[in-house]
Amino acid sequence: MPPPELLANASLKALNAFGVNATAAWLAQVHSEADLVGALGDPRVAACPRLVLGGGTNILFVSDFSGLVVRVQIPGVRAAGETDESWLFEVGAGMDWHQTVRQLLDAGLAGLENLALIPGTVGAAPIQNIGAYGLEIAERLHSVRACVFQQQTADEMSATECEFGYRDSAFKHEYKGCRIVLSVTLALPKRWQAVLGYAELDRELKARSNEPPSAGAIFEAVCAIRRRKLPDPTLLGNAGSFFKNPVVTREKRTELISHFPSLVSYALSGGRFKLAAGWLIEACGMKGASRGGAAVYDRQALVLVNRGGASGRDILDLAREVQARVAEKFGVMLEPEAVIV
Ligand SMILES: Cc1cc2nc3c(=O)[nH]c(=O)nc-3n(C[C@H](O)[C@H](O)[C@H](O)COP(=O)(O)OP(=O)(O)OC[C@H]3O[C@@H](n4cnc5c(N)ncnc54)[C@H](O)[C@@H]3O)c2cc1C
Repeated sequence: MPPPELLANASLKALNAFGVNATAAWLAQVHSEADLVGALGDPRVAACPRLVLGGGTNILFVSDFSGLVVRVQIPGVRAAGETDESWLFEVGAGMDWHQTVRQLLDAGLAGLENLALIPGTVGAAPIQNIGAYGLEIAERLHSVRACVFQQQTADEMSATECEFGYRDSAFKHEYKGCRIVLSVTLALPKRWQAVLGYAELDRELKARSNEPPSAGAIFEAVCAIRRRKLPDPTLLGNAGSFFKNPVVTREKRTELISHFPSLVSYALSGGRFKLAAGWLIEACGMKGASRGGAAVYDRQALVLVNRGGASGRDILDLAREVQARVAEKFGVMLEPEAVIV
């Protein structure tokens, strides 16, 4: 009998937000650094490929995983000092992100409210530098404690070392597959200022009150918008935005606008533009399109959903069809935001 912390041939269906069938040759549910070291040191998995899993809300399994899946469930929140500008809090990688945002806010610690209701764990948040409504975790992150797979030792990484970009970090490149985040130290501003300027959020706040919004009001407004717009993965399998919004040059945007005057785009620094991927997909007539159980969500074309019974391969095939249609019509290649395994 394997010890309870290492399960053989384990189902991942309940552990991924698409709800697709897949198994892991081995699954370790780790609640502490000691659990992690124990699991990694087990001779049965010494030579196996490894995959880290948090809440499974940004991952698509297209086949079974033939190695060890490490599901990080490390708990804990503790005050970790301060800098001139911020209060620091170290949060265990297995903590639920949204509950952490709420818990800190309830304790009078504002600064994360724009990122409310993003599903998943705290440990996964730096991996793609989660962002929403004008804020990214990069702006509220002091450091990350991460275990180096090979050496089984933990290192402290500063925000600069994480090399954050738009839905991007060093964990997707240099440290891909070789670091496990154990905890994240968040930096919450001592002098809080509302992050506004995101049109949809500003409209929602105005509709609710004439007062300058508090952090609590922003939290509630963000939750309300997200509940209207995005499917709840516990009811309809999905991983949020399946694609990143593509970034193009000024020249490319000008060329596109001349053919598609209603193109939705946002100016970035450095003269580049971010295009709304949902608009591109909708303009290809693919909003609501379904192929078996896999579908483009009919209220937000950036989201792919499992209406029931879709395999990971079905969802990937639909994603490839979306990419091909957008590339053909606009000459723009959509890059998946979700991690495909
Ligand atoms: C309805 C919905 C809405 C969403 N909205 C947003 C949004 O607004 N903004 C946004 O940015 N994202 C959004 N997402 C995507 C998702 O919530 C985030 O990417 C989240 O951070 C994923 O967390 P997770 O714990 O589920 O990670 P998982 O899906 O389990 O893993 C994602 C990646 O992170 C790696 N990983 C996970 N934990 C660790 C760890 N401890 N150490 C090292 N690597 C790790 C995994 O190997 C994998 O590569 C949304 C998803 C859904 C379903």
